[in-house]
Order: sequence, then structure tokens, then C-alpha cells
Amino acid sequence: MFYKSTRNSNLKVTSAQAISQGISEDGGLFVPESIPSLTLEEVEKIGKMSYSERAAYVFTKFLTDFTEAEIRYCTDNAYSTKNFETENIAEIAHLFDGTYMLELWHGPTCAFKDMALQILPYFLTTSAKKLNIDKKIVILVATSGDTGKAALEGFKDVEGTQIMVFYPENGVSSMQKRQMTTQEGQNVGVCAVKGNFDDCQSGVKKIFTDETVKKALADNKLMFSSANSINWGRLVPQVVYYISAYATLVSDEQIKLGDKINVVVPTGNFGNILAAYYAKRMGLPIAKLICASNINNVLTDFINTGVYDRNRKFYATCSPSMDILISSNLERLLYILTGDNDAQIKEWFGALAKDGKYEVSADVKAKIKEDFYAGFCDDNGTKETIKSIYDKYSYVCDTHTAVAVKVYEDYRRETKDETRTIIASTASPYKFSASVLEAICPDYKADDEYALVDKINELSDISIPDALADLKNKPVRFTGSIDRAEMSDFVMKTLGIR
Ligand SMILES: *Cc1c(COP(=O)(O)O)cnc(C)c1O
Repeated sequence: MFYKSTRNSNLKVTSAQAISQGISEDGGLFVPESIPSLTLEEVEKIGKMSYSERAAYVFTKFLTDFTEAEIRYCTDNAYSTKNFETENIAEIAHLFDGTYMLELWHGPTCAFKDMALQILPYFLTTSAKKLNIDKKIVILVATSGDTGKAALEGFKDVEGTQIMVFYPENGVSSMQKRQMTTQEGQNVGVCAVKGNFDDCQSGVKKIFTDETVKKALADNKLMFSSANSINWGRLVPQVVYYISAYATLVSDEQIKLGDKINVVVPTGNFGNILAAYYAKRMGLPIAKLICASNINNVLTDFINTGVYDRNRKFYATCSPSMDILISSNLERLLYILTGDNDAQIKEWFGALAKDGKYEVSADVKAKIKEDFYAGFCDDNGTKETIKSIYDKYSYVCDTHTAVAVKVYEDYRRETKDETRTIIASTASPYKFSASVLEAICPDYKADDEYALVDKINELSDISIPDALADLKNKPVRFTGSIDRAEMSDFVMKTLGIR
């Protein structure tokens, strides 16, 4: 199996190359040249395996240049109870009749990003070894909160790597900030940037493409790579948990092998829902993919009209990990739906870069509608949903998951579709305690983030994740705050090459 670029169908690279490079030189994203198939017999077989074995089974289909031993090395190290609070890695909670919460946040940083970022460092170092790359891999991350911490935990003390994370000084929750500034590890760096997430992101992009920096890196046996969801190594681990969840529902006799299910995903960069789409295309019996957005509803409009238009107001919401106006992974979906038409993708994404807007053809629009339903929910709707789920089922869910539940309720009311449904639950409620408590007990006043955590613990059956409880005792290691213009200096100094 080879990988092509969405902007150059003639390019052919192995998965190890795609993962170590992160993004194609032409600016396109790497995609597998064909989508491997998965039979129902295989799904049944997967139901009897551990999570690590399930993951290895799926990876064998995509990472054909990896040996079985290499794949098992990666999965066994990533998906163990060393890193996850539960043996099943991803838990399924039965919420109400025929609706299941796929809890993807039992990892070290309490958000679903761990499902991929626990394994990416192993993929990356294994790929580098296979390709005889003898350079140290430097990971730069711009984060609005969740990715940064998940990447830090994944890469901390991983030999042959170094990681630096930039976050907007006033753009992350206090818990997220504490998670990052107390980060342990010898190869990690964290720095606040005086600006918003876009400032961090464009600062990082600028460093990636700066010729002087690149030359300094090469002279010192260093290379950059990316840990965000443009990297195929972050997407493929997400395909696994949809297949795994289906297999579990079959073995738990909640559904029969072959029954169709719907999947609801709270969406930002379109990575998580694209992974579900891949699972469907492999043969997993998925009926509708329901794309849930917050008030930054560029994807809702796109799926409903075929016009992608980022020229709109940006809102800071209580589901901040979905506050995004450019959903990078949509490029992969459109590449598939245009029949691998790289010229068309170049045209649309060129227009997006230039005018912030493009419109897909009627044919592509119709194909999108076949597989996807889209809806959105504002902060009021999010909080009302958290409260009503709590009142009805004594289940406390986070703000991002609540967006998905609300959009699913709207879908069900509108379509009367009673198909059994998996909702991707993307963060622990503890991680967004302040907003969750505003929803459930608006009069509660807390002294600090730990009081909030204790209060959630009173309300919920879910115990406080060790990783968050331990933060209290960890010293703050990173207090730096810099201007965007100083980011490249910071990187060079940290690497000791200036
Ligand atoms: C990143 C994130 C999302 C959005 O996922 P995408 O893959 O970007 O669509 C949703 N919820 C939480 C909690 C996240 O951290």
C-alpha cells in the first residue's frame, strides 16, 4: 500500500515516509492509494481481541511497510494500562435506548487526542528507523489546549525526539494551562504566546518553512515533523476505535453482526469524523455520519450547501477544541469523492487560501449528502444539553460531547431515524469543569480549578482521573510568555543552535 498526496496523485510514498514527513511538499495531505476492506467475519474476530490487538489488526491493512513486530511494538506500548485508566482503552457507556457513548478520554490527558498521540511517537520513531533517518525529530505544536498536552505526554522522554508547544496566553482553560506548564520530561518545552491560537499556528508554520531555520536544523542533524491531524499517523489510530466499538456492541449482543449504526462526532478539524468515514468505506456497517459543530458552523453550512466559506465571525465558545474555521482534513474527503482529482483539489484549496471560499460540484455535494448529516449547537444549547443529560441519566458529559448529543437529538427529531447510534465522547467532563458546572449548578462558586473538580466528583459516578488529581502536587516548570515574533528564537535557543 502506497500513499499519494491530495495535490499530486503521481506521488507515491510508503506509510513510513508519509508519517515521518507529516505533510506532502506540495502542501497536500497523504492518503492511502486505496481503502482496504474489512469483512464482517473480521469484525467478529476483532471482537475477541484486546484493544492493542484490534489496533494492530487494522494497522496491518494500512501500514504494509511495517513488520508485524514493529506494529505490535507500537500498539503494545501505546495501548496499555500504563497510559490508560481502563483495560478496554475506549469504554462504551449505554446512555439511553440504542444510544452509546464511546468514551475516548480515559488516556493520560483526558481528551480523545490521546488515542492517536499515545501511538504517534512510536509510529514516528519506528518510521525514522526504517528509513535510516539519523536525525533527531523536533515536533512543534500550536495548540488551543488539548493537542498540546496530549502531544507532550506522548513524546515526553521518547528517545530521538524533542517537542515544543505554543499556546495562546489567554486562550486555554486554567486546567489546560496547568496541565501544560507542569509537564514533566527532559525533551519538552512549553511557552505561552501573547496572542490567539491563530498567532501560535501561523508562528509555527512560519518556522517550519523558514530557510535559515531549516538550514540550521540540517547542520545539526535535526528535522521537523508534525503532530497534528494532517499527519496520517494521527488519523489511522482513530479508524480503529470505530471498528472496535462496533465489534464490542456485537460481542455484547447490543447489535447483530451486519446491523447498521449511525455515528455522531463533535467536529473541528474534520479528523475524527473522517476516520469514521474511512471505517465505513472499509466495510463497517455505518449508515449516517452525523457531523456536529458549535456556533463556528462552517462545516454545517458546507455539508448543507456545498459552499465552504470561512469569511465569517470567529466565536470563542465553551467547546474551544472545535473553535476552528479551516477544517484541514476535509481535503482528504474531497480527494476521495472527486475520484482522486488532484487538479480539482488544488483549485478549491487554492481558492480557500486566497479568498477563504470554494464551492464543490453538484455531484460531490450529492455524494456528501449520502453519507453525512450536519447540524450545530450554540453555547446555550450545549449547556442545556449537559443539564438535561444529567437530570435524565445522571451522566455528566463535557461541552464538546454535549454538542454532539444536541445535534443528534435534532437529527432524530427531524428524521425519526431510530438506528442504533454511537456518539463519540471526546473529553472528560473534568477537563472543562467550569462550563460543565455552569450548566448543572449555575450558582456554584469555586475558589480554584481543583474545587471545580471536587464538585464534579460529587455529582458524577466518574472518578477523578489520576492525571488531573496529581496536577495539584506538580511544580510549574514553564512560565515563559513571548511575542509571536520571538517564537523562532525560542525554538533555536531551546535546541541549542543559536
Ligand atoms: C480536537 C477535539 C475535537 C475536534 O476533533 P477534530 O478531529 O478536530 O474534528 C472535539 N472535541 C475535543 C474535546 C477535542 O479535543
